[in-house]
Amino acid sequence: MVARMLFSIGILLSLCMSCNQGGSTSEPDIPTQGFDYALVIHGGAGFSNPSSLGDLKIKQYTQVLTEALNRGHDMLKDGGTSEDAVVEVIAFLEDSPLFNAGKGAVFTHDGQNELDASIMNGRDRGAGAVAAIRQVKNPIKAAQAVMNHSEHVLLTSDGADQFAIDQGLERVDTSYFFTQDNWDRLQGILSQERETGSSDRVEDRDWKFGTVGAVALDRSGNLTAGTSTGGMTNKRYDRVGDSPLIGAGTYADNKTCGVSCTGHGEYFIRYGVAADVTHRMSYLGESVDKAAAEVIRNLKEIGGNGGLIALDTNGHAALPFNTSSMFRGYIAPDTILVELF
Ligand code: ASP
Repeated sequence: MVARMLFSIGILLSLCMSCNQGGSTSEPDIPTQGFDYALVIHGGAGFSNPSSLGDLKIKQYTQVLTEALNRGHDMLKDGGTSEDAVVEVIAFLEDSPLFNAGKGAVFTHDGQNELDASIMNGRDRGAGAVAAIRQVKNPIKAAQAVMNHSEHVLLTSDGADQFAIDQGLERVDTSYFFTQDNWDRLQGILSQERETGSSDRVEDRDWKFGTVGAVALDRSGNLTAGTSTGGMTNKRYDRVGDSPLIGAGTYADNKTCGVSCTGHGEYFIRYGVAADVTHRMSYLGESVDKAAAEVIRNLKEIGGNGGLIALDTNGHAALPFNTSSMFRGYIAPDTILVELF
């Protein structure tokens, strides 16, 4: 019943969403009072605009994001842990072909899918991550297994696949990750490369990143952050982005906040974006809003496109981005927000 009510609010809010072509560094609709549990999610930042996406796709994205929020909300409301909520929500988004994570992962230059994910607990700063895996249905579960059942933080490639399979996680044939849209996108870039000798710079494309991420606060006051992606279309030479790197794409510390990033990974790695938000809060005493906005503004100045979601231990969220869109949502008791642009 509550879930149905929240769903309707979500649709309503998404229909009222405002278009911000210049990018946004603040979220006026996020409530400022504290909550004892909350969840914030993203479905990637990029250069989509309402007209290029179309009504049907807007509706589909809104529905999946709303369903993800409701799933996480139901767990947190009943006293579930932030870790379980983050894994549940990200795995749900990974199973959707709409996002560049899990099922909908983009293709590498060689026509493969190489998936990255990470998770971090704010309670003890336990962390786990996988990079360039190819056989596990839900990379976020593989990252969680690394965190909870290994002495390591980051496992890569075949070894990471093997570890996850040994842990009993669902294995899929590599063909599971085929989607026509992503294949066509790769073919378009490859033929452009053949014609011109190089592909467009990232900044020049009507480009949607599509990574997914979540940060949850549970009733025990613990934060967890997670991120999952297929990386960037046409990536090669075993390129790995920020999403599986703790401190760059994902970070959580109960003293400050949890963060999940999305955008042009190389910049997020070089500027340690996720950890930078939490460090600004601890060293400068900034609020989550101010710290997150400053980091994303600074990133834009050096050419880094993207955004992040952050949530502090009072349930305050920040969702800044410097692109024309970032698919995002927030849920807390009696509050839900889903916006795309
Ligand atoms: N940050 C991801 C990467 O660089 C891409 C994304 O967020 O969409 O691999």
